[in-house]
Amino acid sequence: MTGRTQLLPSDVYDYVRSITREPAVLAELRAATAKVPHNVMQIGADQGALMALLVRLIGAKRCLELGTYTGYSALAVALALPSDGKVITCDTSAEWTAVGVPFWRKAGVSDLIELKLGPALETLDELLGAGGAYSFDFAFIDADKPNYAAYYERLLTLVRRGGLIAVDNTLALAGAPVMTQSSTNAKAMVAFNELVRKDERVEQAMLTVGEGLTLLRVR
Ligand code: CA
Repeated sequence: MTGRTQLLPSDVYDYVRSITREPAVLAELRAATAKVPHNVMQIGADQGALMALLVRLIGAKRCLELGTYTGYSALAVALALPSDGKVITCDTSAEWTAVGVPFWRKAGVSDLIELKLGPALETLDELLGAGGAYSFDFAFIDADKPNYAAYYERLLTLVRRGGLIAVDNTLALAGAPVMTQSSTNAKAMVAFNELVRKDERVEQAMLTVGEGLTLLRVR
């Protein structure tokens, strides 16, 4: 049951999982993802529940996601949206995202999820060019780490004031804390954390859920 990249001791995390409600269709997608390479990239059920709750708490309708992988978080968010809600989710892998599509359909929310295949920076620039500035309520960054700062800058123009940007892997990558690693990805995360710590444009809190989830409220 334990996700290999969790920071919590396995017995504690197993307990968290045992008391976390995971909708059946999300559990099915998790099982399907277990056969896909890099499946440790999938968020935990507890993080999915948290993100769904946050989306409901802020009354989000329009959501953006950078890094679809097999579509678990997009589905968790879509299930929390009203029927006229929208999740635009970006990824470069047609292969991985295809795993999630049948489950989006099965859950009855495929009309709410728009998959954009291609570099996320290009999709964000397209959205800005099409008048999307300040039109999103919620955004989730869980894509290639060296681009986090660039994604963040664009999201500050795409997400409305009072909207929420959630950033994944701010504390750990593949189970190891970012400040103990020398990889390019880990260095990018440490630099990103420093960037937002000093950035007065947002209010922030770092949660130790999953591999670290930083919440940024746009001022
Ligand atoms: Ca992640």
